[in-house]
Amino acid sequence: MKIHQYYTYNDLRNFTYVIELASGEAIVLDPWDADETSGYLADLGLTLRTIINTHEHGDHTRGNAALVAEHQCQVWAHENGQDKIPGMTRALTAGEDIELESGVRMTVLDTPGHTFAHLCFLVTIDGNPQAVFTGDTLFNAGVGNCHNGGSPEVLYETIRAQFHPLEDGVVVYPGHDYLENNLQFTLHLEPSNEVAQQWLSRVEGNDPGKVSITTTIGDERSINTFFRLSNEEIRRSLALTQTDDAGTFLALRHRRNSW
Ligand SMILES: [Zn+2]
Repeated sequence: MKIHQYYTYNDLRNFTYVIELASGEAIVLDPWDADETSGYLADLGLTLRTIINTHEHGDHTRGNAALVAEHQCQVWAHENGQDKIPGMTRALTAGEDIELESGVRMTVLDTPGHTFAHLCFLVTIDGNPQAVFTGDTLFNAGVGNCHNGGSPEVLYETIRAQFHPLEDGVVVYPGHDYLENNLQFTLHLEPSNEVAQQWLSRVEGNDPGKVSITTTIGDERSINTFFRLSNEEIRRSLALTQTDDAGTFLALRHRRNSW
């Protein structure tokens, strides 16, 4: 199994992913452009078996219809996406554990908050968690917005309960490239964060279509304000005095919306 990340160069800075299997088959996650995706598959010599959509927003499902027409592939997504996701053939539910190939499994996480039809996918090899596809729930150094059918309270619970406990080494593959902006947001609230400063120097001016730079869950604990809810400097910057982690998360989400 090999994960290929493709940057789409659209205004929303989407990523499309191809999961290459030893059988010569591929799973495509969130296809932005059908022709470009077919091109990636042809270059890799792979047959498209299944499209998986993390959620129902058009920038994550845009390539579905044409890819289904061309490759007659399956489309898997959240059950709440039934009427909204083009070509959907199978509803996935929380806790499903899908074998991709021998020793490689994908666990389905039901992750509401950005929308209520959002799934993330944890990939394990020989039982060890390796990577997580996070769609618009968790970004590198940030989290998704909630203004197109979501809820920040629910997103907080998803991040707290399903992402905080993941192992440090798990690689994060998000739906968009917002890393540089998100690091600037972190440094806006926490100027003394040297790890975030180092990351910013590394990603500034990088072309994500040429050099893929992504984080691990361990990195997120250092550079993502939404993982650093008890940090005093962040709370001071938000002018929060007496608040709990949920209150800090909501204040951060609110500030990020207008920042
Ligand atoms: Zn979205």
